Amino acid sequence: MKEIDCKLLVIGAGPGGYVCAIRAGQLGVDTVIVDQGKPGGTCLNVGCIPSKALIHAADEFHRVKQMTAGRSPFGIKVTDTSLDLSAAIDWKDGIVARLNGGVTGLLQKARVKIVTGDARFRDGKTVEVETETGQQIIRAENIVIATGSRSVELPNLPFGNDILSSAQLLSLRTLPSKLVIVGGGYIGVELGTAFAKMGSEVTIVEATSQILPLYDLELVKPVAKHLQELGIRVMTGAKAESFDSSTKTLNIKTENGAAEALSADKVLVTVGRRPNTDSAGLGELDLDMAGHFIRVDERCRTSMRGIYAIGDVTGEPMLAHRAMAQGEMVAEIVSGARRSWDKRCIPAVCFTDPEIVTLGLSPDEAKAQASGLKIGHFPFSANGRAMSMTDESGFVRVVARADNHLVLGIQAVGSGVSELSSGFALAIEMGARLEDIAGTVHAHPTRSEAFQEAALKALGHAIHM
Ligand code: FAD
Ligand code: NAD
Repeated sequence: MKEIDCKLLVIGAGPGGYVCAIRAGQLGVDTVIVDQGKPGGTCLNVGCIPSKALIHAADEFHRVKQMTAGRSPFGIKVTDTSLDLSAAIDWKDGIVARLNGGVTGLLQKARVKIVTGDARFRDGKTVEVETETGQQIIRAENIVIATGSRSVELPNLPFGNDILSSAQLLSLRTLPSKLVIVGGGYIGVELGTAFAKMGSEVTIVEATSQILPLYDLELVKPVAKHLQELGIRVMTGAKAESFDSSTKTLNIKTENGAAEALSADKVLVTVGRRPNTDSAGLGELDLDMAGHFIRVDERCRTSMRGIYAIGDVTGEPMLAHRAMAQGEMVAEIVSGARRSWDKRCIPAVCFTDPEIVTLGLSPDEAKAQASGLKIGHFPFSANGRAMSMTDESGFVRVVARADNHLVLGIQAVGSGVSELSSGFALAIEMGARLEDIAGTVHAHPTRSEAFQEAALKALGHAIHM
């Protein structure tokens, strides 16, 4: 049996864990990281990166297909199109492999020791890891739990055969002709759009009264409209009851009790993610919990001294960039710095078509906090760059206090708005007022001008409207 002593042990090499380990290594902290799989976690291997790669491949194919149908406004004519999904999956796997190698290289550069295997707590300072070459005992002064999350399984639709998790869908090498998606949240709408663009007949079955229920209806409307244009059927207020594998039908029940059998050669179940708090012997530790999640304070400390938790195991929003920011902060705390969570906002981006970005408070949330608001809303239909790129749907919305014009929230829906999210985040993080955004020269012609115009509109004097 091999034994290691270290100052910091990180369990899980997803975006939370690997960023924590790299930063700790940079700061000279003697660090070990353990993962049972390839570095990068859910995000890099079966989540953010592979899904965005496939979304891009689907966009490219769809664009060319539109030209075949003679729908190019520029007069481009294409005579034939086909998609080799297997080749697209090979390309996506190549990107994942490059990033696996990149993360490994960065960990090595920061002098982090990488152990591959299943980690399990023995006690609050000791972890045993089952590696290919036997058991490894790791004793650490500080331990970071970064074990992430996994897809929620519905008891009546267990994963296997034609019932797929998002990870399984992202590895299909043959396009399903009829794909039914149970759950119209982030993953359901992002991947439903991609598969419809590649040629599948897609139905989304959502339990609540709208798709993407996290977002307000105004933001969701352009996405819902485009789903319709793509021929995607959306059933809201509906739940899947059972799948009959002999007839390949998914039985659905709606809120008003109506039943329907949907023909489906594959069913994607994407009804949320559950934190991995039942693995790694975490049950032995008796940590304070917040529902399914590990309870942490503003320094990501758990209820046990020397044990931290970061990323999806610590709650919503379960997003890679939140996990990374927590990881970086914990590494600095372990190295002796005084840090605590002081972020004003965490951007959320939904990579649908068009994309949705939200930061800070929505108009309704802001109403509950401030007595008066100024809200500026600027449509891309009045933005030259959007017009010249043939995609004018959507808008930018800025929500500010009426008394001092402090920006409380920014939302946008539109093509490519994911790339505007960093400017939005900077504005909120720096405590920008409407005048700061309005007074910043925004390059022309860019979609970002809609941000400046939304701020101007909130001040009552938009120029291009
Ligand atoms: P994870 O990435 O889940 O990593 C946890 C790691 O811990 C895993 O590698 C696992 O193998 C390891 N582990 C667990 N238990 C043990 C153990 N006992 N021993 C050893 N190792 C262990 N987020 C975004 O911000 N943007 C997106 O566009 C986005 N798209 C997504 C698309 C999909 C399809 C999915 C599923 C998720 C997406 N997410 C996205 C969410 C994002 O992937 C997660 O928020 C992020 O990966 C969480 O990081 P983490 O470090 O907390 O955990
Ligand atoms: P989600 O929470 O976004 O959506 C789940 C949806 O399923 C909800 O709309 C919910 O009402 C619905 N639902 C629940 N039970 C149902 C049932 N029995 N029948 C029909 N519908 C049902 O979850 P997700 O799409 O699985 O994604 C999981 C998490 O991964 C997200 O919350 C997010 O944190 C992360 N993610 C982020 C991105 C991104 O940042 N772009 C992309 C994908 C995933």
